[in-house]
Amino acid sequence: MNKRLIIVANRLPVTACNTEDGLSYKASPGGLVTALNSLKDKYEQLWIGWPGEIDLEVNDPEKVKNQLKQDFSAVPVFLNKHQINRYYFGFSNKVLWPILHYLPSHCDYDERDWKMYKAVNEIFAEEILKQIDPNYDDWIWIHDYQLLLIPALIREKMPNAKIGFFLHTPFPSSEIFRAVPYREELLKGVLGASLIGFHTYGYLRHFRSSVLRLLGLNSEVNRLDLETHSTKLGVYPISIDTAKIQETVNASSQSDYKKIVQEILKGRKLILSVDRLDYTKGIANRLKAYKKFLERNPKYASQTVLVQIAVPSRTQITSYRELKEEVEEIVSEINEIHEKEKNPPIHYIYRSLPFEKLTAFYKAAEICLVTPLCDGMNLVAKEYVAVQKDKGVLILSELAGAASELGEAIIVNPWNPDQIADAIEQAFNLMPWERARRMNALYTKVARNDVHYWANSFLSDLAEPAFSQNPIASQTQLLDNNTMQEIINNFKKAESALIITDYDGTLVEITSVPMNARPDRNLLNLLEKLAEKPNCDFMVATGRSRPDMLDWLGHLPIGLSLEHGLWIKFAHEKEWLKTTSEEQLPDWYESVREIFAKFCLGTPGSFIEEKETSLAWHYRLADPEFGNWQSRELTLNLTNFLANKNAEVLAGKRIVEVRMAGINKGNVFARIQQLNKKYDFILVIGDDSTDEDLFSAAPDYAYSIKVGNSLSKAKYRLNKVSEVRNLLNNLI
Ligand code: UDP
Repeated sequence: MNKRLIIVANRLPVTACNTEDGLSYKASPGGLVTALNSLKDKYEQLWIGWPGEIDLEVNDPEKVKNQLKQDFSAVPVFLNKHQINRYYFGFSNKVLWPILHYLPSHCDYDERDWKMYKAVNEIFAEEILKQIDPNYDDWIWIHDYQLLLIPALIREKMPNAKIGFFLHTPFPSSEIFRAVPYREELLKGVLGASLIGFHTYGYLRHFRSSVLRLLGLNSEVNRLDLETHSTKLGVYPISIDTAKIQETVNASSQSDYKKIVQEILKGRKLILSVDRLDYTKGIANRLKAYKKFLERNPKYASQTVLVQIAVPSRTQITSYRELKEEVEEIVSEINEIHEKEKNPPIHYIYRSLPFEKLTAFYKAAEICLVTPLCDGMNLVAKEYVAVQKDKGVLILSELAGAASELGEAIIVNPWNPDQIADAIEQAFNLMPWERARRMNALYTKVARNDVHYWANSFLSDLAEPAFSQNPIASQTQLLDNNTMQEIINNFKKAESALIITDYDGTLVEITSVPMNARPDRNLLNLLEKLAEKPNCDFMVATGRSRPDMLDWLGHLPIGLSLEHGLWIKFAHEKEWLKTTSEEQLPDWYESVREIFAKFCLGTPGSFIEEKETSLAWHYRLADPEFGNWQSRELTLNLTNFLANKNAEVLAGKRIVEVRMAGINKGNVFARIQQLNKKYDFILVIGDDSTDEDLFSAAPDYAYSIKVGNSLSKAKYRLNKVSEVRNLLNNLI
């Protein structure tokens, strides 16, 4: 079957323009098109995106569709002005863009924009699903922050789809990201992907931290296991087409452009800055730094020119229009200060230049000044390096993603005008061999890690099955419908059946406060019905204390195994069995309580649960990262302290527990032997590490089911509490 790449981006690679002769199409700006063009030999491609504003009353949509499909392998998602205003200029660019770039002060949130963002993501998802063709092996690659919800929308309809998502912006610290309204929905949306790519490891780290703090999901550096699938995480710094840029540098048209540039320079040294006019680019700060540089080095006012190319961007948004005014005022102010010079020291160009012309500026620039306050990657920096090859000096903001690769640039803090001014001075004074050394090193990196490498490495990671790195999948099989049916049939046939299930995380969802996990009405009904089944012993086996469970389930005619097997009672028994002869508190109990108390003080949000012969330290309300770290410290402390004592340390789900050695949930099987009970059907279900004792102690013929994705001795796996309840409901 032929592989096909469905590329989904806000904009199609071509934008429709209304001309007197009807619609015409011009290439959309951006490196993505170039990047993916290079893959055309390997993958058939289909683009899905917005084709620009098209009046569908004047233009026949079917005709537009046919033309786009035929000429550009593109499928349009038609959006009207209102939709674009709210989804694109609204939620995407007035909420997500500023927050992803650490500038929440530029946020302007309107509930209606969010609703439209959701609606448009749904329209995109529908179009993608419509395009899926069973004759192809379709891979879906979704791009950027405007489309965060799509991966989950597709996953819902196509559980096994291969979905890649690449974020072209930074991903900020969770402390900032948490300010986005509906942040959970956005995270869940993107987690529908099989692979999520970021420019830098820093962004990936922040993403994981947001997922942990806002959704409570733990992850590995490269993977996150969800109930329905695994999502891989990876770092793929986007780049440029270095070879193609070299061709442009050598093209004959360059000599004309060179003349135009020389006319601007008038013999002066060129400092070049190229940006979309966006508040993330730090243009005002940079101009102020240049002003400082000129104050300190007056002779340069006649010897240099800063060419600032500012590409118009998002002019519908007020803060972008305000920025334009601010930047232009600073340019005039600086030029006025130096009005005595023959030529103004800043040459400001407010438009987008064709790349060929831009190349002539790159070639002529002694310094390229790239100082964004925050930038996902910044391709201008890489393009300058590719054009210069072995000359020129790059001054680069440490807050551009490119800084994590381009360490040989002069790295600056874009918020510090003094440092930028110093860097310009340093750049002019670098010895030629030092310039060449730095630029050569930069060029080698940019040439090696070009845009083809970027796209190929992302897609080859997407090619690997999502579960390939997940050891659990191979050990514990997902409980499929056939096995489910087999369990139901065998249960119904059984002369004497035993079902043991854990409570928290198995019959009820884990709650942040343990006392909130009371059984709901549906669960009580279910347990009641199971208890009524003739020929079936039903038992709940939990680490919880007797008072809790007697209060919640004591009235039901079911068996209970409490405090991890310390207390056991089958439904028909009158007396509780205590599985230890110890009457006193264990000798370690007080000391462990003291250790726990110390960790409670040092870990805000954590608390102690005291049971008859065990103690638990819960940290589900603590900061999740700090809590994890503290739990490891605590476990280490306890293991040393309890080395020669009759105690065991268990690290469970956001809990560290110390209990008497030899007492565990598996003890129930010893009790079964004592009572000489014989079963021809056994089903055991649990989610936590303490349930592993139950799985190990169960006889071979038992069905054992682990709830969740972590490593287990169980034979089968279910993903969530609702699936356990569904299975049990099928047995009654
Ligand atoms: N660019 C251009 N003409 C111009 C100015 C910029 O073609 O007059 C291109 C530039 O070559 C680069 C892109 O715009 O490829 C800017 O990408 P970058 O990653 O630096 O910033 P973004 O605009 O994506 O935030």
